[in-house]
Amino acid sequence: MTTELLQVKNLKQYFPIKGGLLGRKINDVKAVDDISFSIKAGETLSIVGESGCGKSTTGRAILRLDEPTAGEIHFQGDDLLSLNKKEMRKKRKDLQIIFQDPYASINPRQTVRQVLNEAMEIQNVLPKEQRYDRMIELLETVGLGPDKLDRFPHEFSGGQRQRIGIARALAVDPKLIICDESVSALDVSIQAQVLNLLKKLQREFDLTYLFISHDLGVVRHISDRVVVMYLGKIVEIGDKKSLFDNPKHPYTKTLLSAIPVPDPKRKKDQIILKGDVPSPIDPPTGCRFHTRCPFATERCVTEVPELRNTTGMKNGHESACHYIEEIESGEMKPKY
Ligand code: SF4
Repeated sequence: MTTELLQVKNLKQYFPIKGGLLGRKINDVKAVDDISFSIKAGETLSIVGESGCGKSTTGRAILRLDEPTAGEIHFQGDDLLSLNKKEMRKKRKDLQIIFQDPYASINPRQTVRQVLNEAMEIQNVLPKEQRYDRMIELLETVGLGPDKLDRFPHEFSGGQRQRIGIARALAVDPKLIICDESVSALDVSIQAQVLNLLKKLQREFDLTYLFISHDLGVVRHISDRVVVMYLGKIVEIGDKKSLFDNPKHPYTKTLLSAIPVPDPKRKKDQIILKGDVPSPIDPPTGCRFHTRCPFATERCVTEVPELRNTTGMKNGHESACHYIEEIESGEMKPKY
């Protein structure tokens, strides 16, 4: 039986905006606004969406790098939000993160040996005398030779630095790794190598991934299930095949239409949305997508759509739109 490793319930992450002479709170940036999802042990759940949709904020909130405003986060049965700082620091042994830019997240003055040793030291992993062998093993696991141990981050290429970031995450033997745009800064060929490495490591070490990316091509390659976010809300969630083959939400369809097709003879109709993503300080009422949605009606302005399954199958594929059936049947036509 597959068990849920992580459960996120009604998570909110607001960032206060202060102003006036007294510096009082005048508003909030509602970066994540009441989202719920879970991740099963051993799977890869991706969160995808445009910049500012709240995907990276969600990852940081799970690790409590930013303190969530409201909601629940359960990991292996523990309520993460009830842990004190010391308990949370211990818990981070099981919950690691790989950032987009390893150069920014790895101390440039530390050699690889120091980076890996520090990770093990903080979490009290292995006695000191056994760590050298573990470091060599980790470097080999991520495809770097032992000769790299005493090199500095600037001596590596972007792809190699990301491998060091992965080795650092693996050093403490985690259960869940949050990959936050972890391959976005890499060339396409290097991206593929790092993605394949992540998949191999998942099989070998029974890892679970929360993969955060704006790139649907990458998400398609690595995911088991996908969450689509727009302006702090989940608009669609489902297993990869169902969501990519049969997207329901107008926003997901727009994102998918923008994926380049490798065959130049095959033309694809890209859906172009009007306007920009509105501000999360004052998000649109009702369906947050209504200011850009070609199907929006008065109801969409006032009524928040709930996530619901319209596939006719018990496959966990849900989307938040009032008019999925009408759009699919052709009863509703796009207004632009
Ligand atoms: Fe568009 Fe309305 Fe559906 Fe939102 S609820 S996606 S605005 S049709």
